[in-house]
Amino acid sequence: AIEVADLHKSFGELAVLKGIDLTVDAGQVVCVVGPSGSGKSTLLRCVNRLEEPTSGKIRVEGIDILDPEVDLDRVRARIGMVFQQFNLFPHLTVLRNLTLAQQRVLGRGKQDAQRIAIENLERVGLIDKKDAYPAHLSGGQQQRAAIARSLSMEPDMMLFDEPTSALDPELVGDVLDVMRGLATSGMTMMVVTHEMGFAREVGDELIFMDEGVIVESGNPRDVLSNPRHQRTQAFLSKVL
Ligand code: ATP
Ligand code: MG
Repeated sequence: AIEVADLHKSFGELAVLKGIDLTVDAGQVVCVVGPSGSGKSTLLRCVNRLEEPTSGKIRVEGIDILDPEVDLDRVRARIGMVFQQFNLFPHLTVLRNLTLAQQRVLGRGKQDAQRIAIENLERVGLIDKKDAYPAHLSGGQQQRAAIARSLSMEPDMMLFDEPTSALDPELVGDVLDVMRGLATSGMTMMVVTHEMGFAREVGDELIFMDEGVIVESGNPRDVLSNPRHQRTQAFLSKVL
């Protein structure tokens, strides 16, 4: 589970997160939507401390990750993160992209790492690309490889930051299908997305953020079909 309480983050004078409270229970999928600049990426990045929060509390699987004593590498190894840009190593094959961190960070042997990598390539439908280089994959295939790479670390939860926003429209569906499968398998997920269909069908909760606060949250169907706040209505009328 992820528990965030009264989270604030400023960059200098600019207050970007102004008191965020949320919980993602084990096995839940929480989708986060909101206008550009509302603080969605900053929120996700605080959850694995890619950003240092200014104040507040964040617990991940019960561990206070803002405790100065915390072993950040261990915490981060439990949290998979997938970005808009796929960040695969261009000079390594897909398989090697998936085994590298398993061996270097988790200390797995080559055979174990390859076995787990292959399981995850099968899971995302990319086993036939295991020896290809990233440049020879479509954007959607690269993103699925990036997801498989995260899964190969066997995280307890996955954070997604607009994983389909850089993709051509016809490639979005395959990536969403993989994410839907992950959700069905019980993965705890926090997903920043503009894909309202995905949020409605897969999300257990939808959070609408604007200007660093959670304006509204609830069952995705309710929020999408019956937004209570004017700001949510205005945003949805633009994206739906
Ligand atoms: P988008 O939908 O465009 O991805 P977002 O909701 O993810 O937007 P953030 O990336 O979290 O928004 O940014 C929120 C605000 O914080 C923006 O005004 C941005 O310019 C600012 N910001 C983000 N990172 C930094 C940084 N490292 N230094 C200074 N300002 C930053
Ligand atoms: Mg963002």
